[in-house]
Amino acid sequence: MDENLHISTKYDVIIVGTGVAGLFTALSISPKYKILMISKDKIKNSDSYLAQGGICTLKEPSDFDSFFEDTLKAGRYENKEDSVKVMIENSPMIMDRLIEYGVCFDVNEDGSFEYTREGAHSTYRILHHKDVTGKEITNKLLNNVRERDNITLCEFTKMLDLIVRDNTCQGIVLSHEGVSKAVYAKEVVLATGGIGGLFAHSTNFRHITGDSFALALRHGIELENINYIQIHPTSLYEKDAKRKFLISESVRGEGGILLNKDGERFVDELLPRDVVTEAIRKQMAIDGRPYVMLSIKHMPKEEILRRFPNIYRHCMEVGYDLSVEDIPVTPAQHYLMGGIKADTYGRTSVKNLFAVGETACNGVHGANRLASNSLLESLVFAERAGWIITEEIDDIKLHTPSVDIRLYDDAAAWDESNRKIILEEIKRRDEDFYDKWCNKQS
Ligand SMILES: Cc1cc2nc3c(=O)[nH]c(=O)nc-3n(C[C@H](O)[C@H](O)[C@H](O)COP(=O)(O)OP(=O)(O)OC[C@H]3O[C@@H](n4cnc5c(N)ncnc54)[C@H](O)[C@@H]3O)c2cc1C
Repeated sequence: MDENLHISTKYDVIIVGTGVAGLFTALSISPKYKILMISKDKIKNSDSYLAQGGICTLKEPSDFDSFFEDTLKAGRYENKEDSVKVMIENSPMIMDRLIEYGVCFDVNEDGSFEYTREGAHSTYRILHHKDVTGKEITNKLLNNVRERDNITLCEFTKMLDLIVRDNTCQGIVLSHEGVSKAVYAKEVVLATGGIGGLFAHSTNFRHITGDSFALALRHGIELENINYIQIHPTSLYEKDAKRKFLISESVRGEGGILLNKDGERFVDELLPRDVVTEAIRKQMAIDGRPYVMLSIKHMPKEEILRRFPNIYRHCMEVGYDLSVEDIPVTPAQHYLMGGIKADTYGRTSVKNLFAVGETACNGVHGANRLASNSLLESLVFAERAGWIITEEIDDIKLHTPSVDIRLYDDAAAWDESNRKIILEEIKRRDEDFYDKWCNKQS
């Protein structure tokens, strides 16, 4: 099964997006169904690949209440409790499946898992693979997807539109090698990630521009909390970087401290992300600088190299030696808590259309995501979408309505209007947030 194999016009399922949510959905659908998976960019260029800190899990049943409470507290108690329960309960099973697929998590000398901790977690419950957990999980899932004959993977293939008739999704319009065409499927899964590409400062890939949300607004598909957007407190301050490099929360979890221009601490570094972000924003204004400093110098160099090799390497590349000097950090857009309204099986308000991963809003995160809950949330609900798709698909008839492809001739104009549609919606829902974070180009 090769990338960019000829795309036919009919599939059982189309999955848009090749991050962990898309890949895990594909692996959770019975291999007897023909699946097309597409990615707008290279297959591996997903935010999933960038995840550093790790993935939360219920390490022992007695941690359930505390994990639940930490998730709700970070989410300002706006979370949907049923969804949180489903996520936590299913987490050990998801870890087992990941390990079966070949994912390696770091272990202690005695072979037990090495759990780490991040902001707003009251205990160590995060599994990780060095500081490249997302890369490890995505690579292993991708290897497994590539072994499935029923799945066709196509990169540089962009979903332009959804084909929706009578509130039922019947396929998508895609663009591949400059040609637009309608591709039909019994069920469509949106796993297109978040919206970072719409922001001047974001830790996300630039091509992750929330296309699904614009299409949802065009087709009247229900969205929820699209203005609940997380700004990560600590991305490396590099004036000209297109994508901001994330300095994982686990650096603070392992004792990293934030300092103002006089070298003084100004916030408890382990408070929830939104609280730390606001403290940094205020401190930057007081200091008159576009950054504050982060210090991890207390950690022995060997330990930094063992725990944060990727962060260490990147900082060295841009001229900072983490083991002996402080680094400048600044907040950047990072994650979308809201999205396409979905139930705990990924079902949306449109029949035969699913949303999973960062694209979906099933209410797990409430108003603010707890660190390292998003990989877990993506996997738990992707698996459930895969189950329900497998259960329902034989009863669904494939429809092939005609589509006027000329609508998409001016691709740049279509993209620009998508961008405007989403930003207008964010502004409509939260003008303050829009002015603070969306309205900046530099
Ligand atoms: C720097 C960074 C660090 C992170 N660290 C952690 C962490 O430690 N722990 C944690 O739990 N979470 C972390 N996250 C969040 C987490 O990685 C993501 O929320 C999660 O991986 C989202 O997965 P996804 O599959 O939903 O989307 P993504 O992985 O973003 O994948 C989106 C896919 O959709 C495709 N796509 C988008 N639009 C279109 C279109 N129109 N047509 C075709 N394809 C399209 C993209 O090409 C891509 O393949 C981090 C995020 C970032 C950016």
